[in-house]
Amino acid sequence: MDEVTGAQLIAESLKAQKVEYMFGIVGVPVIEVAMAAQAAGIKYVGMRNEQAACYAASAIGYLTGRPGSCLVVSGPGLIHALGGMANANMNCWPVVVIGGSSDRNQETTGAFQEFPQVETCRLYSKFSARPSSLEAIPSVIEKAVRTSMYGRPGACYVDIAGDMVNAKVDRSQVRVVSCCPPAPVSLADHGGITEAISVLKAAKAPLIIIGKGAAYGRAETVLKEFVERSGLPFLPTPMGKGVLPDDHPNCVAAARSRALLQADVVLLLGARLNWILHFGLPPRFNPNVKIIQVDLCPEEMGNNVRPAVALLGDINAIVTQLLTCIRKDGWTYASNTEWWSTLKQKMAANAKTSKALALTETVPMNYYTVFHHISQLLPHDCIIVSEGANTMDIGRTMLNNYLPRHRLDAGTFGTMGVGLGFAIAAAAMEKSEDRGRRVVCVEGDSAFGFSGMEVETMCRYNLPVVIIVVNNNGIYSGVDPETWKEMSQMGDLTSIAPPVSLLPEARYDEVMTAFGGRGFLVRTVEELRSALELSLSDWEKPSLLNVLIDPSSDRKQQEFPWLTRSNL
Ligand code: ADP
Ligand code: MG
Repeated sequence: MDEVTGAQLIAESLKAQKVEYMFGIVGVPVIEVAMAAQAAGIKYVGMRNEQAACYAASAIGYLTGRPGSCLVVSGPGLIHALGGMANANMNCWPVVVIGGSSDRNQETTGAFQEFPQVETCRLYSKFSARPSSLEAIPSVIEKAVRTSMYGRPGACYVDIAGDMVNAKVDRSQVRVVSCCPPAPVSLADHGGITEAISVLKAAKAPLIIIGKGAAYGRAETVLKEFVERSGLPFLPTPMGKGVLPDDHPNCVAAARSRALLQADVVLLLGARLNWILHFGLPPRFNPNVKIIQVDLCPEEMGNNVRPAVALLGDINAIVTQLLTCIRKDGWTYASNTEWWSTLKQKMAANAKTSKALALTETVPMNYYTVFHHISQLLPHDCIIVSEGANTMDIGRTMLNNYLPRHRLDAGTFGTMGVGLGFAIAAAAMEKSEDRGRRVVCVEGDSAFGFSGMEVETMCRYNLPVVIIVVNNNGIYSGVDPETWKEMSQMGDLTSIAPPVSLLPEARYDEVMTAFGGRGFLVRTVEELRSALELSLSDWEKPSLLNVLIDPSSDRKQQEFPWLTRSNL
């Protein structure tokens, strides 16, 4: 008799569904699952916190279109992973979480780490289930993988009772479930396409908004042709950056506020009208703006703004439909319109103020100086991971992306602590697929702290991630070392230290050197440039640049008062 264990069935089923990566933390009862995964040819990355493991697994889903898996133990292990599941679900990224749980015969007895895991995961996922027997494992795993990718992508959970991990069954009793194909693609209805084209043609101030749904949907090739043929201006959302290059002549990111405020027609491609896009409402949008909304999720249509045209389906397919129409009639939006000249003027003016700030070389440095020099040195094809408040907001405007799915950040849920997990996923993929893209992780000092111990993971697997901590001593901003010292002498810091402050000039670089990576303490432009060049030339080890900046450095003066705090 050819016997197979529960652990093997989980691993082989994941592999059969083309799940290539597993991130997790093992312990009772899932150690055997991780070992079986390796035996089945899945790459296993052991992490230091389940949250980061789940962030990593979800990044694989976004980058490849097929979910990564996350393996956690029962009770607290699973609960720590919930943050990652929620983040993936909010971002519409596929991920499959496998959680060990207490034994079936111990339910409700107060067993070790007993918790209602399947019920708990329902709020954080699209699908949450426990196979009722070993024989059911392959079909439940297939359903989890399929559900994570089909429709609006998201998180799925499979619960494995501890006693099922090492239990055995005759292989011939287990039905083989073949790999589920990629999600079926649907086109928009023909009438909608005709309507959309006529709304676009009638627009005086049209704008395309490219969201991370367009990145996930791999719409870059058709979208490039559509933008170039139509001559329309486009604006990427934070993770829509790179679907078309940031330096594309039709990109109006440098005039973002103006473009949103004055556009009369917006072609919305895979982006929700949520907080990131100011709900599509005044004062940031024209109250009469006509939205042509393209999304694969019918329930999304009409959130906050009733679209003039709703095109339901896959972005890649729908942009192809739109393209076919304009190819046929040769329509383009003229380049000499008032709208284009307004946008161009605004872009030139904005570039000037950023440049002035970027060229100041005072010590301590400001954000703009730091990002200016980083942007000069980063390779064209590098994957930029970014989080933090000012660090992410300012970095987004100054660090260009030239390729799709090359930017990962705090996303729809505004989650801090995602960066290191994302960077590990991207770097692990680069390494095992033998590609040569660099992964650069630009972190605020506070953001870094949430998952800081993952530098050990990077060192352990020799992942040459370059982490740049833009350190302003706090959340939003902290205080300088002298002030901190004075405060400590004045009394109990728990009563007087600003809640936003962190230890001034904390040596995050030494966290990296503790595990054998490269660490740099950076105060000046010269130190920044030489440390970054050195780090980028090392393909073996991770590096951390601890860049001390002026704790009072802030975003440049914004034209609108509501833009001054991290609300993009
Ligand atoms: P952003 O953060 O860039 O604004 P969101 O995450 O808010 O983007 O929105 C992405 C949208 O894209 C979601 O509403 C999702 O349903 C949609 N989406 C994802 N993939 C596709 C696809 N292939 N085709 C159409 N819409 C998609
Ligand atoms: Mg900070």
